[in-house]
Amino acid sequence: MLNIVLFGPPGAGKGTQSERLKDKYGLIHISTGDVFRALDPESDLAKLAKSYSDKGNLVPDEITIKILESEVSKFPDAKGVIYDGFPRTTAQAEALDAFLAIKGTSVTAMLSLVVSEEELKARLIARAEVSGRKDDADPAIIQNRIETYKKTTAPVAGFYKVQGKLSEIDGVGSIQDITERLFSAVDSL
Ligand code: AMP
Repeated sequence: MLNIVLFGPPGAGKGTQSERLKDKYGLIHISTGDVFRALDPESDLAKLAKSYSDKGNLVPDEITIKILESEVSKFPDAKGVIYDGFPRTTAQAEALDAFLAIKGTSVTAMLSLVVSEEELKARLIARAEVSGRKDDADPAIIQNRIETYKKTTAPVAGFYKVQGKLSEIDGVGSIQDITERLFSAVDSL
């Protein structure tokens, strides 16, 4: 199984590039952010998740890990999965390793998109126009998401680095250029 963690700060292009990787390699694309946004808005779970995401905070690990595991379990025959926006904490990375080990598989690689902070902010503000996402529209919330990334999520790269699974990919350039960089990284796995 090809299990790819597509990593990077908010606005790095994970969603866009995941779709392209999914099509090229016939994988399942699981974005925990998309899963939270697709919940029935009237449900307690959706309200709880939104109380964190609207402020740019992470949803607690316990909830996020359960959501991820139930999503993966919907595709027992998948030939591989792209994890987009998960894991975002070391506890989530440990849980993913344990979950995949039970299935007799493991994370193949983490591909980490590298983009400067200035570029991220510009992209998120531009995305707000089309995404309608509350957490994209407000500069203070964007800043909180970036700070949360730096403090809590960036260390997850170290978790995969010690396993020899981390590849950093330049996330600046045309969408197509970045896709090609990712394809060559996957082809060399
Ligand atoms: P995203 O679409 O990946 O930008 O995620 C939007 C929001 O969903 C994040 O700001 C978090 O509030 C929540 N979220 C998504 N994935 C996770 C995760 N792995 N851990 C905790 N919260 C998450």
